[in-house]
Amino acid sequence: MARLMLLGPPGSGKGTQAGRIVRAYKIPVVATGDILRKHLAEQTPLGLKAKEYVDSGRLVPDDLMIALMADRLTWDDTKNGYLLDGFPRTIPQAEALDKLLSEEGTALDKVFYLKVPREMLIMRIAGRRVCPACGSTYHVTGSPPKQANVCDACGSTLIQRSDDDAATAEYRIDVYNAQTMPLVAYYRDRGLLAELDGTIGADNLQKQISGILG
Ligand code: ADP
Ligand code: ZN
Repeated sequence: MARLMLLGPPGSGKGTQAGRIVRAYKIPVVATGDILRKHLAEQTPLGLKAKEYVDSGRLVPDDLMIALMADRLTWDDTKNGYLLDGFPRTIPQAEALDKLLSEEGTALDKVFYLKVPREMLIMRIAGRRVCPACGSTYHVTGSPPKQANVCDACGSTLIQRSDDDAATAEYRIDVYNAQTMPLVAYYRDRGLLAELDGTIGADNLQKQISGILG
């Protein structure tokens, strides 16, 4: 049983570690970016409201995100733990999550904070390619697919996320620094933070995380 969270700037490798943690611990990942992109693609009411924010790299308003998560965390698959990726992203979201969890008599067990310098984030985001069908992610030079632009896992043609263009990526990092960075202190104060060097490579990071989780 583990209720975990990944914290870190865009491009810090949260998605990659999420995939590995999920496989190792058999808990679902709740990735708000993926959930929102699905709503956008399906043009649901939430998707229509969220679109302008996601496309421009701004944060979707707290009330929408909190309502979304209040529902998501009641699903059966979260009963034995979960990994949050991309939520909370603001202090009000973190407070709302604490409240939700304390009402059900649970709490987060650990927050993994992936630290990566800005220049590296920009390089990683610029080269990132994703599979629109299965969500696998690649990097054009760092972790390319076997065949250029084709997903190893499912054969779909890879795309670049529209908010991964250079200007929007820079802006998302600014938004992270202004609105999400305060969560580092928030979780450190609560004794939940495990601070990790996000530049040491995905395999090394995975080892460190496994070591902490035991
Ligand atoms: P990354 O971590 O690479 O920035 P995500 O896929 O987690 O990307 O998020 C993409 C976008 O979805 C964000 O830029 C934001 O617009 C929206 N989003 C995701 N999670 C949240 C959240 N918890 N609060 C507000 N907006 C969010
Ligand atoms: Zn795929």
